[in-house]
Amino acid sequence: MNHYYFDHNATTPVSTDVLDVYLPALRDVYGNASSVHSFGQAAKQSLETARRQTAAFLNCSAKEVIFLSGGTEADNLAIFGIVRGCARERKHVITTLIEHPAVLNSCAQLEREGVAVTYLAVSREGVVDPENVRRAIRPETVLISVMHANNELGTVQPVAEIAAIAHAAGVIFHSDGVQAAGKIPVDVHALGVDLYSLSGHKIYAPKGVGVLFVRNRVALAQTQFGGRHERGLRPGTENVAGAVAFGAAAEWAANHMAGESIRLAELRSRLERGILASVPDTYVNAAGVARTPNTSNIRFDGVQGDALLIALDLKGFAVSSGAACSSGSVEPSHVLTAIGLDKSQARSSLRFSLGRSNTREQVDALIATVAEAVARLRRLAPSSAFHG
Ligand code: PLP
Repeated sequence: MNHYYFDHNATTPVSTDVLDVYLPALRDVYGNASSVHSFGQAAKQSLETARRQTAAFLNCSAKEVIFLSGGTEADNLAIFGIVRGCARERKHVITTLIEHPAVLNSCAQLEREGVAVTYLAVSREGVVDPENVRRAIRPETVLISVMHANNELGTVQPVAEIAAIAHAAGVIFHSDGVQAAGKIPVDVHALGVDLYSLSGHKIYAPKGVGVLFVRNRVALAQTQFGGRHERGLRPGTENVAGAVAFGAAAEWAANHMAGESIRLAELRSRLERGILASVPDTYVNAAGVARTPNTSNIRFDGVQGDALLIALDLKGFAVSSGAACSSGSVEPSHVLTAIGLDKSQARSSLRFSLGRSNTREQVDALIATVAEAVARLRRLAPSSAFHG
């Protein structure tokens, strides 16, 4: 049986271009980048080359790039670094209902520490209205955090407009760019963000490496304590090979993203057209707004998303449902309920996220398999009007 991967928003394989520099770095560049001897200096050089490649990708200066372990750590450092670094007695943070748990649970922790947090609603298409951000700002607002692209829907948020609103009010702006990087242009200066999170394993680099862009003169409190690595913001001996891989992945994205995005957008629309044409009572969530070109979230009324996911897996197709297991029960995706789907509609939705390995033939095979599986599931469980 062939195995086809349609879950690139969960994670990507390490690309061969990246492996070509990552494996030699793992093998040969083992010095500690803080050591004075030649082994240390070689590691330092590799690290700084990776920092420059990443800076070129983001259009920032190399010293604004902090390497760390991934998107979750980048979000934590941005949020706790700003809020704890601010001396005011009363503090307020603005974020949205559709953020990744790395942001939402950081904000929940801030609330336990006495910080007020506003969670902004989004439109039925999964987009934040900048006017709502403006209205939510208070004199004690210290941080606004709005993701660039949503992981489940792919919806692209009006980050540049929100950054301008934040700055007009003197508030620091962070954006989680984990799902945007490598899929849509990311120019941190054009976007106007102060802080921007990225993750290696979403851009064909390995797990365990990420980046936080920290704009010059934006001061963060330390959240970890140790040596002076990464401007003191991320103490600990650097993951040089991981950074080398990240730099190579960023460079690949800078050079190839435009063409690859067009290819993925074509495949995505082929997938959506094919599924809508062959499966009745099916809807594309957030179809009407700007989305990352690889992401499609589709609702199959009358079908349990998880049952469909398993049926597809048995046929060799890997996709995802946004459902999360919490306290033993399967909760529907918080993103899908935030766009107004009821629990059963949210549970009947699946995410297809395309990537470099996917071809037209794979997409066509996926469409046929989805059509067959949905018809069978509806016949097996004719719980509603959907008898297939
Ligand atoms: N932010 C978003 C939007 C994500 O999609 C993810 C991963 O799924 C993360 C943050 C967390 O990144 P990492 O897995 O590198 O910690």
